[in-house]
Amino acid sequence: MADGSTDFAFTSAVETATAAVWNKVRSRITPLEWRLQAPLIAEINRLKAEKNAVILAHNYMTPEIFHGVGDFVGDSLGLAREAARCEAKIIVQAGVHFMAETSKVLCPDKRVLIPDLLAGCSLAASITAEDVRLIKQRYPGLPVVTYVNTTAAVKAETDVCCTSANAVQVVEEVARQFGVDRVILLPDEFLARNVARQTEIGIIAWQGRCEVHERFTAADIAELREAWPGAEILAHPECPTEVLEAADFAGSTAAMNDYVIQRKPRQVVLITECSMADNVACDAPDTEFVRPCNLCPHMKRISLENIYEALLHDRYEVTIDPAIAVRARAAVQRMIDLPPPASPARYDLVKARHHVDVELI
Ligand code: SF4
Repeated sequence: MADGSTDFAFTSAVETATAAVWNKVRSRITPLEWRLQAPLIAEINRLKAEKNAVILAHNYMTPEIFHGVGDFVGDSLGLAREAARCEAKIIVQAGVHFMAETSKVLCPDKRVLIPDLLAGCSLAASITAEDVRLIKQRYPGLPVVTYVNTTAAVKAETDVCCTSANAVQVVEEVARQFGVDRVILLPDEFLARNVARQTEIGIIAWQGRCEVHERFTAADIAELREAWPGAEILAHPECPTEVLEAADFAGSTAAMNDYVIQRKPRQVVLITECSMADNVACDAPDTEFVRPCNLCPHMKRISLENIYEALLHDRYEVTIDPAIAVRARAAVQRMIDLPPPASPARYDLVKARHHVDVELI
């Protein structure tokens, strides 16, 4: 609507335009909710075409966003790489602020919008560029590997980025290139501890935490095993090591998604953010999802309403100092240029090393 109101009607034209989405999400959304969401979905998709825009929807978006308006869906780096390849002039980031920054870093000529400027991240907020500069002074000559869940300013201070899917590979490759046996891996302490169990390379870690994954415990897993003895338990590597030790599989959101789609477990538990299971469930009708999960309050700031407002008013644009963007892009590009992993992107829980010391900064 021209006045910015989101009071759209559920007409037969809207029903027809959104029928395919409804078929996909109907197990996760009530008919009453759908009558409110479908008109917005139709209007957002119309606006995208009118403005030559695309929406990048992270795995932790709710299903009406993920399946309803997302042009590219997945993890943060996969989204940004897709965005860099597309012809659109505008990117709306249905995710948190560091993801929008990564998109801007990789797509400097596109306008990148985030629907809510307060969509932050406990992990990205745990470390600053100044912190990284001090760490480099303390450990001269050691390479700094930074998780993509960081600000552009932090990425700009580091040698190479990594994701939860390739962290082990990046650590080993950068150690080989620098000729060292220790690597600084920032900022997620639990990811660093879980990586350390997969490699002989010594890890120096920062005490950053994801507020969603740090709350899971081994006791949670034990309770789940008792209540759902047949369920396969998949954990994200941002969880504490004791959680991974108790799980059946550990991997990134992309690896979890592949596991469910390819192996079709009868019952599964995804130890991660709540919307992940909802979104995978829409594509895995034969699997029963047991749902202990934690909500990310930052991801949940993004809604159909503020995506619509972002598109309508071209807000809120994410900008990065060009000098920082160039250096951050180099760190991301070094990761992209690494040789493809020799083994699938998963954490080998059987071969994981025990009692591994990690030096905490
Ligand atoms: S799920 Fe964790 S890492 Fe992801 S945005 Fe939320 S707080 Fe940050």
